Order: sequence, then structure tokens, then C-alpha cells
Amino acid sequence: MASMASVLRRKLRVQPFLLQLRFFSAESRPQQRIEKILVANRGEIACRIMKTAKRLGIRTVAVYSDADKDSLHVKSADEAVRLGPPPARLSYLNGSSIVDAAIRTGAQAIHPGYGFLSESSGFAKLCEDKGLTFVGPPASAIQDMGDKSASKRIMGAAGVPLVPGYHGSNQDIEFMKLEADKIGYPVLIKPTHGGGGKGMRIVATPKEFADSFLGAQREAAASFGINTILLEKYITQPRHIEVQVFGDKLGNVLHLYERDCSVQRRHQKIIEEAPAPNITHDFRSHLGQAAVSAAKAVGYHSAGTVEFIVDTLSGRFYFMEMNTRLQVEHPVTEMIVGQDLVEWQIRVANGEPLPISQSEVPLSGHAFEARIYAENVPRGFLPATGVLHYYNPVPASSTVRIETGVAQGDTVSMHYDPMIAKLVVWGEDRGAALVKLKDCLSRFQACHLQINRLLLLVISCNYLLDSYGY
Ligand code: ADP
Repeated sequence: MASMASVLRRKLRVQPFLLQLRFFSAESRPQQRIEKILVANRGEIACRIMKTAKRLGIRTVAVYSDADKDSLHVKSADEAVRLGPPPARLSYLNGSSIVDAAIRTGAQAIHPGYGFLSESSGFAKLCEDKGLTFVGPPASAIQDMGDKSASKRIMGAAGVPLVPGYHGSNQDIEFMKLEADKIGYPVLIKPTHGGGGKGMRIVATPKEFADSFLGAQREAAASFGINTILLEKYITQPRHIEVQVFGDKLGNVLHLYERDCSVQRRHQKIIEEAPAPNITHDFRSHLGQAAVSAAKAVGYHSAGTVEFIVDTLSGRFYFMEMNTRLQVEHPVTEMIVGQDLVEWQIRVANGEPLPISQSEVPLSGHAFEARIYAENVPRGFLPATGVLHYYNPVPASSTVRIETGVAQGDTVSMHYDPMIAKLVVWGEDRGAALVKLKDCLSRFQACHLQINRLLLLVISCNYLLDSYGY
């Protein structure tokens, strides 16, 4: 295996994506225990998971709501089961219907993708209870990491550095205000449950604290059903750097380097890259070690992401949270390490060991991902809906991936996340990857549906100019 890996590493310098498709040859592929898999998701991630499943000879089952009955992910599957009407709570969030669909179609496993039920420990447990393999981490790890306060306590105990702040159970406003004064302003107020930047408030001065705190509590209760809050020092010049980790059921855990996701709008990522630029070898290995310690602290297996915030003024990094699922931006990691992480997830779910060791994880070139959203950028990123009358994303190649969940003629509805596709490019170095990103974005065509292409193009041009030293 080791010599095969080194041969593959040499090839990787030239054709990273093609390599990932060839990594496990037919002869070395052990007996599959998962022969049929239900993908409990929609859009690009459902299509992407099915692509790998098919390559491994695994049959696929799609689930869909009425809004998606003609969509690409349904057409991509061997079988499809209707879940219900468009609202997610009646379809993609209906765990018991999804489990029933898996049992009825004879699937042995459920892959949750990201979003929807992917970080529901209850759903993972339900799958286990019904004798289905949940292609993801143990329910206990999802539960431990689902609460940002609890996860900070676990990480603190494991020696992982934390952002200075308060993450205890006392939620009294007077007490919290004293804690905020101790931390020093600006302070960030964050809901302990939830995500997508919802409910987060930056508090610049002590007199704004009470209003922001009550507002955050209200928004957290409305969005997540839990209104507990934590406080953090607000890092004014941050970088968001996250580490891809992977564990198997035998206790092995490794990392697959980091991604920089600092380009965000409304605390949501829009461009990601791997590896993170301008960090030293030592910094990279400290991050990686901290992330592996974090994963080991919760007995992790499958794919996970440990998010850190880096204070560029002090050069220190701190644990922010752990996402217990495959991440939207996982393809940039796949491009630089030449591995297929969905394949790893399926193999780990089958009880197989990780295919390589930490020292064998290759690192080659540089990759970017741009998220194509159906949205009206000048109007504050308002989601856009409508028919995609003309759709011509750039052609895929060994260095360009288009992860799309839509096809020409599809209707983008208001029911789900407005991300319609991801453009992923690889280059031998960051400059080459940026040129490719800019080039692909300028040729990416979608008509009669507003998308954020121009914003992404401007950002990539600015990055390119920066990299030339302008
Ligand atoms: P969510 O789970 O809602 O996405 P996160 O804790 O991951 O929330 O934070 C989302 C984003 O907000 C981060 O990627 C980062 O850009 C920013 N952020 C989070 N914590 C801090 C902080 N302490 N200081 C400055 N920015 C922060």
C-alpha cells in the first residue's frame, strides 16, 4: 500500500482529480457491505454523493419533496422516494419518513450530506436503532459538538486553545454583562446552538450590551428553539481557518490540512481555498495537531471539520467549533490531497481502516471553491428565485470541478438554500489556481436567474492583483 501511495503521490502533482477517481483500484477494493445507499439530501451534494456511490458499485436511492420531483438529484439516482410537500420540516427534515424509505427500498445505509439532518444526533441514533448505517460520526460526537458551549468545555479540557470568553450556564443578563466587561469590548454574542451566523451580534461598547443580548436571545429562540448565549472576545482582524479531520472506527484519526474560508458575507462563506496561504510549516502542523486532539476528545470517526479563528494581530489561533459532517467546501481539500472523502466516509462506515496514515497524506498545489448562489447581491444578498432558462457552466476537466444541483430549465424555488452550484479549480500554485478561478467565473453562464457570479469575479480579480503585489 505504501509504495502504491508514493507512486500515486508522484502522479498527483499532475492530475489531482483524475487520481482521486483511481485511488482505490478495482482489485484492491474490499467487499462492499453497503450495497445500496439512501441519500437524505438534495441539490449538488446529493448528486456528488451519488457519483461516488455509483463509482463504487453501490446502488442509490434519492428522496425528494414535491418541489424537487423533476430535479437533477432525483434523475441521478437508481430509485427515488417522495417524502412530502416542499417545506423542509415536512420532507427533508422528516427523519422517520426517510428511515422508512431506506427500509422499504432495502438500503443498508443513509448518507445525510450537509445541512438538513446531517448534524441531528437524534437522526443518527434513529438510523442506528433501525439497523441502518449512518454514514457520519457517532451520535454522541454530534451531540457533544452541537452545543458550542459544551464543545468549548470539552476542547478546553483536551488542551485545545479557546477564544477568551464566557461559555457557562449562568444566563442572567447582569452576570453576562459583567463577564462581557471582563472580556473587554468589542465582544461577540453567539447562540450556543445553531449556525449560519444567525443571532450573532457584535457589541462595540458596554451600553449596547443589553439590547444586543436580548435581540440575540430572541433570534436564537426563533431560529433554533434554544436561546442560550455565549460570549467571546470579538477578533477584529480574523482569519477563518478550518482543518479537515477524518477518523475510522478503529480509533485512527488524521487531518487532511486546512482550508481558509475568510471570504464571507453575513458570516457565511462564499470563497474557500486550500491550503491556507501565508502560514508557516510550524503553524500548519500545530493547527493539524490541535484538530486531531479535538476529534480524539470526542471519539470521532468519519469526516469532520474543526474550525479555528486566527487573530492576525497576535498570530494566535483559537478553537471556534467542530462541524460533525462533510462540509460544503470539502472539494478543495480533495483537490490538494487527491482523495475522495465521500469514498472514505463509506469505507469507514463499513468498518474499514483509513486508507493512508498521516505521513502519507499528500499535499499538492492549490485549490479554490466559489459558491454560486441564486441571489440579488445589490439588494443585500436577497435569495433569487425563477427558471434557469440558460445554463452553461464551464466544462469540467482534471483541474476544474462543477458540483451542480441544477440543470437548464430547472426552477429554483424559495424553499431551500439558494446555493445552486460550486465551482472548484486546482492549480500548481495559488497564482495558477486564481487565474483559473477568474477565467472560469468569467465564462460561467446562467441566464434569467440572478446569481452572484460578478461578485465572485471581482473578489477573484482582487485576490489576483494582491498576489501580484498591487
Ligand atoms: P455559525 O455556526 O453560526 O456559522 P461560527 O461560530 O462558525 O457561527 O462563526 C461564523 C463566523 O463568524 C466565523 O467564520 C467568523 O468569520 C466569525 N466569527 C466567529 N467568532 C468570531 C469571533 N470571536 N471574532 C470575530 N469573528 C468571529
